Amino acid sequence: MPARVVVGAQWGDEGKGKITDILAESADVVVRYQGGSNAGHTVVVGSNSFKLHLIPSGILHESTLCVMASGTIIDPICLADEMIGLRERDITCDNVRISENAHVIMPYHRLLDGLQEESRGAGSIGTTRRGIGPTYTDKTRRMPRSIRMVDLLDQGVLRDAVAAQLAQKNVIFQEMYGHAPLSVDEVIEEISGALPIVTPYVTDARAIIRGCLSRDEQVVLEGAQGTFLDLDYGTYPFVTSSHPVSGGACLGTGVAPTEIGEVIAVVKAYTTRVGAGAFVTELEDATGENLRELGAEYGTTTGRPRRCGWLDGVALRTSAELNGATGLAVTKLDVLDELETIQIATAYDIGGERVDRMPENLDHMEDARPVYEEMQGWQQPLGECKKVADLPAQARAYLDRMTELADTAIWAVSVGPEREQTVAF
Ligand code: GDP
Repeated sequence: MPARVVVGAQWGDEGKGKITDILAESADVVVRYQGGSNAGHTVVVGSNSFKLHLIPSGILHESTLCVMASGTIIDPICLADEMIGLRERDITCDNVRISENAHVIMPYHRLLDGLQEESRGAGSIGTTRRGIGPTYTDKTRRMPRSIRMVDLLDQGVLRDAVAAQLAQKNVIFQEMYGHAPLSVDEVIEEISGALPIVTPYVTDARAIIRGCLSRDEQVVLEGAQGTFLDLDYGTYPFVTSSHPVSGGACLGTGVAPTEIGEVIAVVKAYTTRVGAGAFVTELEDATGENLRELGAEYGTTTGRPRRCGWLDGVALRTSAELNGATGLAVTKLDVLDELETIQIATAYDIGGERVDRMPENLDHMEDARPVYEEMQGWQQPLGECKKVADLPAQARAYLDRMTELADTAIWAVSVGPEREQTVAF
């Protein structure tokens, strides 16, 4: 059976966690393909809310393997904390698997991320300060070689690798930031408590995924962040250091493009983004504030208020193309319940020219003005809708417009955080 990809179609926080959790019920394996503990997925089951940062959102299904593939980066301390927190809530985590090749976020990466971000002042790119950028930088820089999960299994290899890394990092800490150097012992001491918790799960992740594919089992590849935070296709430099787009699923897991059958693009019924960068449909008024409150738009990882605005149909169309979306999972439609009218940007006006795709040079996004189309709100609660026929005509019209703009059919609509609050199409 070909693999399914779940990808964020916007700037992250689209509700991928909920959609992945639903897919995980029938999946044999859920694989995170990129990013690290900068992600924050929330899965709600009854009165329980689970906040996941690194562990795939299939973890609540005990019989589904949850793999962190080679494209992810692992902070052993965060992962151990996450596993301990889940175990306290009776989730065993015995179905977790971690790729030997996933690179490790070390304490010096977190320190460097914080120092860099602080020094940028007003020019901050809004990182989560969790060491993501510096770790991916070390991975691509190659020498001294970055530490991978497999290196944590051998104390001698680990010690030598930390020493080689610190020889460079300490120069930066001292000369650029006036920060005291770190010692090999203190770095190893800091991660040592986490090692016995996470290392038993380090394995050949690609063999697991390959085995599932060859047995015709269901494989779900889960992205973190979102399309426009992609290092290549996002609003550079306000992007993440990896590839959330569906193509990143192949790179990050070793699954070939021809083995992917479906790409489910998760899109919020409006737009949010965290941190700096262009945002054409942003609402810096009471309507934006209202969306933030109704949608509880505060970061799972950082608690930062998210910037809010209308649905950007230009971004949606571009995203559907970039990801090869086969279906849209529209989330948080219920957040728009009370609105009398709703705007959708169907084009941008850039210097008097009307464009319907995001420009390749995303610097031009700063000059783009939204061309809006107004739609009628439904002004009734959607939370109880179970099937398409339960959705009011105005809501269906709004979804139809999304389908037209994205040239992609709706796969499902989410009308609340609970699993049951999902309408299959
Ligand atoms: P992710 O990182 O893409 O998984 O998204 P987040 O977890 O950061 O944000 C999604 C938030 O919205 C979570 O708190 C979910 O419980 C919640 N959520 C998901 N789908 C819906 C929905 O359809 N309606 C409402 N009101 N909340 C939702």
